[in-house]
Formats: sequence, C-alpha cells, structure tokens
Amino acid sequence: MTAATIDRPTLAKAERNVGRDLMDIYEKLATGERLDFSDGSRLFKTDNLSAVGWMANLVREARHGDRSYYVRNQHINYTNICNKFCKFCSFYAKKGGPQPYELTLEAVRRRLEEHIDVPITEVHMVGGINPRLPYQYYLDLLGTVKQVRPGVHIKAFTMVELVEIQRQAQKPLLDVLMELKAAGLDSLPGGGIEILSDRVHEELFDRKLDGEGWMDVARTAAAAGLTQYATMLYGHIETPDERAEHLVRIRALQDETKHFITMTPLAFHPEGTELEHIPHPTGYDDLRAIAVARLMLDNFEHVKSFWIMNSPQITQLALWYGADDVDGTVHEYEITYQDDDHGNKRQVLTRKQMIKLIEEAGRIPIERDSLYHEVIAGEKEPDVQSRFEIELTEIR
Ligand code: SF4
Repeated sequence: MTAATIDRPTLAKAERNVGRDLMDIYEKLATGERLDFSDGSRLFKTDNLSAVGWMANLVREARHGDRSYYVRNQHINYTNICNKFCKFCSFYAKKGGPQPYELTLEAVRRRLEEHIDVPITEVHMVGGINPRLPYQYYLDLLGTVKQVRPGVHIKAFTMVELVEIQRQAQKPLLDVLMELKAAGLDSLPGGGIEILSDRVHEELFDRKLDGEGWMDVARTAAAAGLTQYATMLYGHIETPDERAEHLVRIRALQDETKHFITMTPLAFHPEGTELEHIPHPTGYDDLRAIAVARLMLDNFEHVKSFWIMNSPQITQLALWYGADDVDGTVHEYEITYQDDDHGNKRQVLTRKQMIKLIEEAGRIPIERDSLYHEVIAGEKEPDVQSRFEIELTEIR
C-alpha cells in the first residue's frame, strides 16, 4: 500500500488554507514525503484545526474521492465479566455498575436470529477477559455464528482476548489462531492497547497486555493471515505527543506486517468509569484525531469515524476531515452507553438512514463488506426503529 498523491493546489491557495506555520507539512504531503513524529505532534497541538482538516481532506479525496463506506453489521458482546479492571472502562461488571453476564451459545443464536431478516454482512464480537470461559466456548461461539449466518464475516477478539484464549487452549498462539480461523474467525477488530504508551498503560490498564505484547500478537496474527483493524483511544490522560507516538508505532508495525486495513480513532467516554472527572472529548478533538490519523498513516487505506462514539453529526463533518468510513448500521452496541440510555442497548441506524447521513454530508455512500468490497444491495431491509431518528431529523 503506497501513499496517495494529493492534487497540488496552487501555492497561493495552499498558503491561504494552511497558513505559514504548517506549510512545511503541506510541502511534505505534496511531494509524498512521510510525516514524522514531530509533524504529528505539531498537528495535534496547533490551534489551526481547519488547516489540519483541509490537508487531511486532500489525502482522503486523493484515495477515495467522495466515496464513503458503511457496512451492515451486528455487534455481540459475549461477556462483560473481566479480570483486567481498566480504569477507562465502563463495560465490565462491577459493584454499582453493570450486572455480570456471559451469553450462552443459545443466547447468541437468539440474538442473531432477532436480526435475521436484515442482510448483515459482518458480525463483530468482543468481550471481557473472563477466566471461566474454556477454549471450546470460543470455537463454538464462532461456529454458532457461521451456522446461523453462513457467509457472514466474523470480526472478533482483541489482542488481549486472544492472549486469554491461548491461555485456555494451552497451545502456541499461531496454532490457536489457525484453529479459530478454521472455526470461522475472519479478522481481528483491533483494540486492546488503547494508546501505545508505557506511562498510560501503567496508569490505566496495567493488568492488560503491554504495547510490545500487543504488537507481538498482531505480528503472529499477520503470520496467520488475519486482516486487522487498529484503534486509538483518545481524550483520557494521554498527551498530544503520546497520540503522535501511537500513530508512528502503528504505522511502523503496518510497514512490517501489512495486515492492517483501517484506523479508527475512538473518543473516550468517561461516564461510568474511574475517570468520570475527565471531561468528554469535544467535537474539535474528534475531528482532529481523525484528521491527524489520516495525515500520519500513509500506509493505511481507510480511516473511520465510528458514529456511535463520535455522534452521527460529528461523523458527517469527519467525512471532510479525513474519514472515508462511518462503520455500520450496528445492532446492539453495549461497550459505551449514552447518559440517557436507561438500559436501552439498541443503537441502530438503518441502511436508509446511513445513506441519508452520508448524502447529507455531501458524499457518496458505498455499502461495503468487511474487506471493503462493494456490496450491491438488492434485498429490502425492514424498517428498524432507530434512537437516532430524531437527531437526524434535527440536523436536516
Ligand atoms: S477494556 Fe476490556 S480488558 Fe479492560 S476492563 Fe474493559 S473489558 Fe476488561
């Protein structure tokens, strides 16, 4: 995968949009030179967000023009029991927080069947690190999904879960990955490291795999031929330099393994975590994270704005700040809750709404599968009630 060549606007126009301070970065982009750590750091620190977004949009349009991708998918979070106690996490079961659960295979089957009339192409499964679940559970979980929905793409298990699965299997990781693949695993969703910084690891999630360990699992997964996605959790205690460092390290790993396809910057949601005192990242932070990821990751084909984390409105703007993907229709997302949820796990945009969201942002919606092949949608989707229907009406 090579860096995209951007259309070089006239120097005067570039200077007008970028301003003198960032022109050296624009020059690098225009000549195809890779940005370095200090460029990334400046992009995260500058007040001139519109310049960062303008440059990111040039790169985005050079790669994808107006095309903006979405997928029809279902999320299943098979357990919220977890022994890692990450301080930024509101998902795991705790006193005064969410009640513990682990889904039986029958419950997983029922959840899939609830949406069986929606032509979903991807099932996304992650869960807590639950030491009660044996190796066979994970194999059967994958098997159950493929039984109910043959042909669906299964994106499942963070690097941290894979370490637990291997611990249960008592076999080399490569063997475990090959067995998971044979049972139905198609790709890995990324996540688990949040931000590649030893300081943040120690302060927020020291029971979990560290950065080097995370990268080793990614290397082994690449050797097993598994496509991977990457994330960056921002807006907690990390510094702008740590964000830049994260992107540089992920990019170097991609140079080595070539198995990453998409970067998704994820906004931290403090509600229900040990970091509730930290203010929620703003739309300004969201757009900057998307834009800088697009500018730094010259070896990633796609940058995603996950509408559930960023809101549909910011995601519409993000399509002009470097993002070319909005994730999917998403049935039942349980990792983060909005304040007004009252236990409502339904977070859905229908295909029609997804198309509207992208078209109203002035881009061209393209339905994709998990590997970005275009899906020619012929099947009708039932009209699913969406909790975001009103919000979308409001922004028209
Ligand atoms: S982020 Fe993952 S590993 Fe950490 S506590 Fe939450 S579920 Fe467990």
